[in-house]
Amino acid sequence: MKYIGAHVSAAGGVELAVERAVEIGANAFALFTKNQRQWHAPALTEKTITAFRRACEKAGFLPEQILPHDSYLINLGHPEPEALIKSQDAFVDEMKRCEQLGLCYLNFHPGSHLKKISEAESLAIVAESINHALSVTTGVTAVIENTAGQGTNLGWQFEHLAEIIRQVEDKSRVGVCYDTCHAFAAGYDMRTPKTAAATFAEFERVVGFQYLKGMHINGAKCTFGSRVDRHHSLLEGNLGTAVFEFIMNDSRFDRIPLILETINPDIWPEEIRWLRSLAHQ
Ligand SMILES: [Zn+2]
Ligand SMILES: [Zn+2]
Repeated sequence: MKYIGAHVSAAGGVELAVERAVEIGANAFALFTKNQRQWHAPALTEKTITAFRRACEKAGFLPEQILPHDSYLINLGHPEPEALIKSQDAFVDEMKRCEQLGLCYLNFHPGSHLKKISEAESLAIVAESINHALSVTTGVTAVIENTAGQGTNLGWQFEHLAEIIRQVEDKSRVGVCYDTCHAFAAGYDMRTPKTAAATFAEFERVVGFQYLKGMHINGAKCTFGSRVDRHHSLLEGNLGTAVFEFIMNDSRFDRIPLILETINPDIWPEEIRWLRSLAHQ
């Protein structure tokens, strides 16, 4: 069973995201549980929490079909103590919001070293930040996203993800979200069935599919290996469609949210239908 959806808007309240997912024919969705461009947000009210939980129940969404994303401001690998604490606190707050909403994942980008410390040092700080967040929350898995490797962003090599996981104490609550556009920008080819198979074999060897908790299904406006993060619609751009057919016909991608972050929300219903049509019975 494939769970396919998109990162829908939560404007007006997180409970409205559920309706928006239903409207586009999704059986998975992603959302921000607070404004992603601000550090602080009012706490979720009991009313909102109840409304969200009821909406999910009514529409038949299980926690494992929902992949919340944290704020873009958070840098869990920050080289400076004060800024790091600010990020760690914000991350814990996001984990707690997920907990309150009955969700089981929080998807985030690992962080950036900002050229002030080494990659290895920054990766260790990311792991430490995750350990801290896991120690003060329950039930929510920290889901690290692979990145395009733009600027000083960590997480564009599978080895970065593996190294963070290695340093996380509770392996049962750490996972990975694989973004197809980011991987392509980072130099992982998936443009033919053969290269897609080879890249996912490498993912299995370095990270392990037991950690795969979600995917971002995106086309790429950026070029191969450019380390630039520019998404495109599925049928446009430089990634091609072989990888989507590969994913839709491989049971290792069953029962995890497959989330569109493609650039034209108007065609999300079509993109979801098209992805489903790729599955050979
Ligand atoms: Zn993504
Ligand atoms: Zn991206």
